[in-house]
Order: sequence, then C-alpha cells, then structure tokens
Amino acid sequence: MNKPGAVKAVDRADFRDHLPTADDQGRRQWIYPQQPSGRYYRARTWLTWLLLAVMFGGPFVTIHGNPLLMINVIDRKFSVLGVIFWPQDNLVFALGFLLFLTGIAVFTAAFGRLWCGWTCPQTVLMEMVFRRLEYLIEGDRPRQRALERAPWSPGKLARKGAKHALFFVLSFVIGNTLLAYIVGLDELRQIVTDDPRRHLAGLAFMLLFTLVFYGLFARFREQACTFICPYGRLQSTLLDEHTIVVAYDYKRGEKRGPWSRRESPPQRAARGGGDCVNCFKCVSVCPTGIDIRNGTQMECVNCTACIDACDEVMDRIHRPRGLIRFASLNGIEKGERPRLTPRLAGYCAVLLALAAGLAALLLTRSDVDITLLRAPGVLFNQAPDGKLSNLYLLKLTNKTRYDRPVELKLEHPAGSLTVLGGQLNIPAEKQTEASVLVEIAPENLASGNTPLVVGVYSAGKRIDKIKTVFIGPRKEPIRN
Ligand code: SF4
Ligand code: SF4
Repeated sequence: MNKPGAVKAVDRADFRDHLPTADDQGRRQWIYPQQPSGRYYRARTWLTWLLLAVMFGGPFVTIHGNPLLMINVIDRKFSVLGVIFWPQDNLVFALGFLLFLTGIAVFTAAFGRLWCGWTCPQTVLMEMVFRRLEYLIEGDRPRQRALERAPWSPGKLARKGAKHALFFVLSFVIGNTLLAYIVGLDELRQIVTDDPRRHLAGLAFMLLFTLVFYGLFARFREQACTFICPYGRLQSTLLDEHTIVVAYDYKRGEKRGPWSRRESPPQRAARGGGDCVNCFKCVSVCPTGIDIRNGTQMECVNCTACIDACDEVMDRIHRPRGLIRFASLNGIEKGERPRLTPRLAGYCAVLLALAAGLAALLLTRSDVDITLLRAPGVLFNQAPDGKLSNLYLLKLTNKTRYDRPVELKLEHPAGSLTVLGGQLNIPAEKQTEASVLVEIAPENLASGNTPLVVGVYSAGKRIDKIKTVFIGPRKEPIRN
C-alpha cells in the first residue's frame, strides 16, 4: 500500500494505468513498429501516392491563374480551387469552417478515426514516407532495435547520419511546400532566388518550418497524435457503440493462448480457447504502441496495420480473417449490422443545413466588395461658397477575374461626389483604395449627422448601395 502523499506505483498489467510510450519514471519508450504488409497496407500505399501528389503538387496547380489552394495569411488572400477569397468573405470562412468541423464530427461518429490513419498529413508522412525510409536504411523492427543497442561504430554512424540527413532534406521540402501554400509559389520563388537580405522573414520561416517538421518526424512522432492533436481527444465524445472502428473481436478471440498444430478448432473451443494465439503481432506493428485487444483506445489512429498483421496470422492457422476488423462494439457484442442512428441522422441534418447555407452564400457572393469610411481627422470643411464637405476613404475589392470599372453616384441627399484621382478601375482579383470628397449645401442637411446614400455602378448597372453619414455643424433649435 502506498504511503499518504506518495506517488502511486504504476500497474504495468493495467493498460489504463500507463502510457505504452512511457516507462515507470515517465521516460519515453521509443517505438519500433514492425513494417506492416497486407491488403490494407497496399491500399494505404496507393492512397498515399495520390495524397502526396495532391499535397506536393498543390502549389504548382493553378486554375484561371490562381493556385489550387493558397492560405496567404500575410496578404490576407486565400485561394480555394482557384477562386480568390478575401477577409471580407468572413461569413463564408466561418460557415466553411463550421461545415468542416461538422463533417469531421459526422465522419468520426460513423467511422472513428479513419481520417487519422489514412489521410491525415501527419500519419501519411510519418508512416508512409519517413518510417519507410527508416525501414530502408535501418531495417525492420529487430534490426532497428539491434542498431540502437549496438555501440557507436562507423557503420552505425553512417546509417544514423544518412537517415537524419535524408529526414532533414525531406523536412526542408515539406517546409517549403507549406510556405508555398502560405505565400504562393511566385513569392516562394522570389525568396529562393532573390537577394536573401530582402527576404529575411521568408527565410526565417523556411528554416523554422524545416526544423519543426524535422523535430516532428525524427523525434516527436506518434506523440503528436496522442498528446497534441485535439481531434484524438474529441474521439471519446464522438464515438459510441455504433461507430465502426478498428476492433478486436474478443468474443471470437478469447480465451487467448498458443495454439498447438495438433489441436483442431473444435478441440480448442471445447477447452475454452479462442482464435487469438497471443502472438503479439498486432502489437508489434502498431505505430502508437498499443494493444488493440484491450479495446478502443485514444491512441488508436485506425491505421489498420493490426488488421493486416492478424489476418496474416489467421491465414497461417487456417482460421477466417477478421479477428481484428472494422466493426462497431454492437457489431461484435450483438452481431448488429451498421445502421443510421438518430444521433448520426441529427449530425447529417446539421451538416446538410450548413452545406446549403454555404452554397447559398457562395451563389449570392457579391463580385465587388466596397467599404466607405470617413477619413480620420477633420470632421468637415466649409468652402467660401458655403458648401460643406466630408472626406471619405473608399476600399474596393474586385473578386472577379475581370477588371471592373466602377462609378460612384451620390443618391441622397442632393450634392456632389468626387473620386480624388479620377476614374475607378479595379484590376481583376485585386483591392484598390481611393479618397472620396462629398460636398453638400447646408440647406440640404437635416442635422449634424445626415444619412448619406452612395450608389455603386458598373457598366451602367447599380451593383451596390452604401449607407454612411455626412457630418455638418449642429443645427441649433430655434428658441422663441
Ligand atoms: S495478431 Fe491476432 S492472433 Fe496475434 S495476438 Fe493479435 S489478435 Fe491475437
Ligand atoms: S491499434 Fe491497430 S489501427 Fe490502432 S493504431 Fe495500432 S495498429 Fe493502427
């Protein structure tokens, strides 16, 4: 029994009482997963090629001259499928983000963390790129362990050095790709080819991204999914007994134990033995170091490596595949087939409503975004002829792929409007600013703050109407 105040001893036999990646003192236990092989690993390999092509090809693909995807937070300019979005499209962003989150919730409630194991860039790059290079250079699990235990020698130094050099180069490529997504390919080209003194910030980010990715894939690894990623934490709130996850069929597998070749399945069943031969193959391939036979755990990224490993064992002992498989808890416990639950139907309804809202926003999105704000400083000026004037700052965003000539007309009250600097012509997908002077005779003003309506015209058609105020002197009430 522990003394009061003493730290409770870790129960290594209870999987809930310790992390598979930490020892009793909390020190990191390095994981050396066995390289998987099998139908799911083959499918993941094909999918990885496709995802890598999209990931690394993304910045090079342009649609109507715009990147396929660009998240230029510096210039606050975003491109999605070649369509440019501006900060003024904040409602589109907010709804799009909500749709994305709801989509994740629906997908997770239905299929668990399939996204993590199959399509998340962290897992794709870690398990299918960096880990494979590691297998290539250092060999599979036993050879990696032996190399780690071996004293330093020229051979070990060469292997470790080659691996880390390659990891660093790859991290540099990934870091540059991320930078291209943020600033665009043209700007990245400038950073690389121009005088470095003019791009110190860009070069600093290039180095930072490279170091972060190198640290992530060379050292931090599965801990990103276990300790940092909020999505993994959300799992427990989104999964239920109907969710399809990578699961061990304990009804079929237990009681686990070695299987003698001389024993037939009915004989084994008669003495209470299940199909699990306790070979630990499913544990040795797991990139997060867990034993899926303990049930669904937060660390499981649904990578399916354990399914492949167990299927291979089942093939060898001539038992049906699928002791570990995609199944829901109810599927395993009660043999229930997957079905649309009321909770999932509710999520889907919210998802559809958000998708409809986003579609409506995109379809009614204005071509030109206009803001007209009073210039800071002087409230108003009075000309020698008595007319009062206010100065405004006009900001126009052309969201179309064509240049747009724009004309402003003062619609209320009577007066004149002059765009300082002449005719307004907004280049395609660009922003422009101008100063606007509005002059109004005092008799046309109702009070100190008079509502002002400005019509915005393009090609003779009114495309927008701006409401603002015109400030003049306060009109004193007439006293008798
Ligand atoms: S691979 Fe299959 S048979 Fe081997 S321990 Fe895991 S569940 Fe049991
Ligand atoms: S338990 Fe299986 S599916 Fe989950 S992370 Fe480990 S190997 Fe992948």
